[in-house]
Amino acid sequence: MSEKKFVYFFGGDNAEGNTKMKNLLGGKGANLAEMVNIGVPVPAGFTISTEVCIAFYENNHQYPEILKKEVDEHLKKIESVMGKKFNDIENPLLVSVRSGARVSMPGMMDTVLNLGLNDETVKGLVKQTNNERFAYDCYRRFVQMYGDVVLGMKPENKNDIDPFEEIIEKKKEELGIKQDTDLTAEALKELVIEFKKAIKKQTGKEFPENPLEQLWGAIGAVFGSWDTPRAIKYREINHIPGHWGTAVNVQAMVYGNMGNDCATGVAFTRDPATGEKVFYGEYLINAQGEDVVAGIRTPQPINIANKRPEHKISLEEEMPNSYKELVEIYQKLEKHYRDMQDIEFTVENNKLWLLQTRTGKRTAQAAVRIAIEMVDEKLINKEEAIMRIDPNSLDQLLHPVFDKSKKEKVVLLAKGLPASPGAATGMVVFNADDAEKWAEEKKKVILVRLETSPEDIGGMNVAEGILTARGGMTSHAAVVARGMGKCCVAGCGALDIDYVKREFIVSGKTIKEGDWISLDGSAGEVLLGKVETVKPELTGNFGILMKWANEIKRLGARTNADNPHDSQVAIEFGAEGIGLCRTEHMFFDAERISAVREMILSKDLAGRKKALAKIMPMQKEDFIGIFRVMNGLPVTIRTLDPPLHEFLPSDKEDIKKLAKEMGISFDELEAKIVSLEELNPMLGHRGCRLGIAYPEITEIQAQAIFEAACEVKKEGIDVKPEVMIPLIASKEELTHQKAIVKRIAEETIAKHKIKLDYLIGTMIELPRAALTADKVAEEAEFFSFGTNDLTQTTFGLSRDDAGKFLPMYVQKGILVADPFQKLDQEGVGILVKLAVDKGRETKPDLKIGICGEHGGEPSSVEFCHRIGLDYVSCSPYRVPIARLAAAQAVIREKE
Ligand code: PEP
Ligand code: MG
Repeated sequence: MSEKKFVYFFGGDNAEGNTKMKNLLGGKGANLAEMVNIGVPVPAGFTISTEVCIAFYENNHQYPEILKKEVDEHLKKIESVMGKKFNDIENPLLVSVRSGARVSMPGMMDTVLNLGLNDETVKGLVKQTNNERFAYDCYRRFVQMYGDVVLGMKPENKNDIDPFEEIIEKKKEELGIKQDTDLTAEALKELVIEFKKAIKKQTGKEFPENPLEQLWGAIGAVFGSWDTPRAIKYREINHIPGHWGTAVNVQAMVYGNMGNDCATGVAFTRDPATGEKVFYGEYLINAQGEDVVAGIRTPQPINIANKRPEHKISLEEEMPNSYKELVEIYQKLEKHYRDMQDIEFTVENNKLWLLQTRTGKRTAQAAVRIAIEMVDEKLINKEEAIMRIDPNSLDQLLHPVFDKSKKEKVVLLAKGLPASPGAATGMVVFNADDAEKWAEEKKKVILVRLETSPEDIGGMNVAEGILTARGGMTSHAAVVARGMGKCCVAGCGALDIDYVKREFIVSGKTIKEGDWISLDGSAGEVLLGKVETVKPELTGNFGILMKWANEIKRLGARTNADNPHDSQVAIEFGAEGIGLCRTEHMFFDAERISAVREMILSKDLAGRKKALAKIMPMQKEDFIGIFRVMNGLPVTIRTLDPPLHEFLPSDKEDIKKLAKEMGISFDELEAKIVSLEELNPMLGHRGCRLGIAYPEITEIQAQAIFEAACEVKKEGIDVKPEVMIPLIASKEELTHQKAIVKRIAEETIAKHKIKLDYLIGTMIELPRAALTADKVAEEAEFFSFGTNDLTQTTFGLSRDDAGKFLPMYVQKGILVADPFQKLDQEGVGILVKLAVDKGRETKPDLKIGICGEHGGEPSSVEFCHRIGLDYVSCSPYRVPIARLAAAQAVIREKE
């Protein structure tokens, strides 16, 4: 029986691994092997597989028995390729020992460089390089790193200064020198001795002189670093499973710091910010890799094309041969990997080596451009291009964004929920009226509220951005802001808002009305002062990507919109209809609210009808506007949903004002308001329950819809109204409401003497409706899942209050994600699927969509595709996200 293999060689012209073996060799190891396979010069080395890491943790930090033998054999292979010998006093082989998990975890795990040096081999390094200072500098760096990473040296004093740096500082003082680079070979030799003494003193351990012992110590430390608290935290944040483990790469050292014929650098095969097809990178002459990143010396651009006035020289000019070779290699790598690469290189005595290649991180703008251009270059196909874009990242392209360099310079005040993406800068105001007043004076405002209510809509509409102290991702502020495509940070608990003093306190700072703040809605950040924004260009590439997505996707993408403007925006983003028009938003308009209030306060049917008659023409106008914009696309209009108390004031002054307007006493009005109050209004007198109690409300809404539809149809524009009844729990509720809508529809159509197709359907947003969907489907001509309410009622969680503890649930791993953001597929999803199946048992071609917030969230969109929905509906700005996610769902299904 052949024994299991744990170690994989790469170097010269032979590698045992390849890029497909990332799970076994980690990303770094797999790509080092792949580079060797395609003839890129890589210092020889070997990878100890992730299986060893897993075994190491399962067997009490013991390695598989065979490992030692395998490591010895592979060390010999490195020696033979590199022409050097480990532990040799004439021509020593030195190695680096680095981690490398399946996905990169930058800076989270440990690394040891220059391994193999001791008091004897260092003399060999002097001979090899003819540079005593360089050799002893490597030696002292090695002892320092090994002491820290493997032997666990810690700062002794509370001031947290690295113990080795303390010794170096003392030495420099003694010698009266300022720079590390001024330390002579002699001084470095002394440092090595002092470092070893310090290690012995603090840890009680001898620094191991034997290179093999050093190697095993370093391998153990790298495997050990997989389970340090910071690595565990990083995995938690990035959803990386602990059982993946890390590989360990042992690789021959090459040096970019041996003199002026040496250099080191990093480069991207295309510009990671814009995606432009230009080779882009930086290097330093006579330096180590870490110097490029550390920012102590200013790196120079690798090519003339990227030189700016402040740059002195480029690699292209300084080392033309190495540059030429680097260009050939980067082109080869990009062609081979068929994606933009992020590479690290070193030039040692004019010989170029590649130390790493990986898929480069990029902005959304760059991602789209690169994907499209790579299709043009025939490197990838359209489906691959679509899969390369994270749908959520499209947000960055659709909303104004902060100039990143400017944002970095301002103070971060607090973090809340990234409720609606984008960037906004404005002056703080604390109520909606002020927001409107200030906006009229052409001032830019940020509306800051404990939470918003429908009455704030006007202020929200004119504000640059909205900031709330309470509420979650489906809070009023969040939903409305997303609908408006307006930046919003919600649930920012750190704000201590005082409406009376017109100020809020955060991070020890008092921000007064009129002070400037900025919001980053994509990051949930509240920033002090002004930050400049840039309007994103919806470039041709974005349009092309969206066109391709449309060619592939099966799911329809509609929008949630309740006015012509939002409908127009959504059309521009490719919406194929309106999936939810919340008519109550039309009721809040300043002109209409008094008629709505009059209706609520009427004592009898006649009074209510009189008030409703005032609302009808105004609502009709809204529908006319929407139908015209939608130009024949389906428009789903929902009858009134919220509990009536939301339309009445709660503030004493406002009650007084309204009583006067209505010509009734304060006491009478207050008594009415109290009578409408409910303990759980979300489970109270709302949805279809209103239309059943007050059929005249449904009647008047149906009249407004069908009058508008008939008028627009007569203009020669096609109209497809779909009337939707909210919050039903039983078929009978739908039967009741449908009868009213149907009667009005038929009467209106007959009156106008035209032909008009329409549908009457229902929302499925209560568990009982889902469970009895076969019966509901006997009446319904379509279903639309209201997954906001369905999540609320399935979990027994209040949409408006759960924000107080849901983040804690996610942090503790009790929930994998906020179920109001990502559809809970294994709970709420079961109800959705059940309702789809039952509904189609009754009506096989029943049209079914979703209009809860989940309709614009990629993983939920994929779920909707899988269970056979016809469309998703989401806020206008999320339509492109839904379209892309819907296309990806098709491609993933084929894989
Ligand atoms: C829902 O409940 O998912 C829905 C779309 O309706 P609303 O958010 O208006 O309650
Ligand atoms: Mg609902």
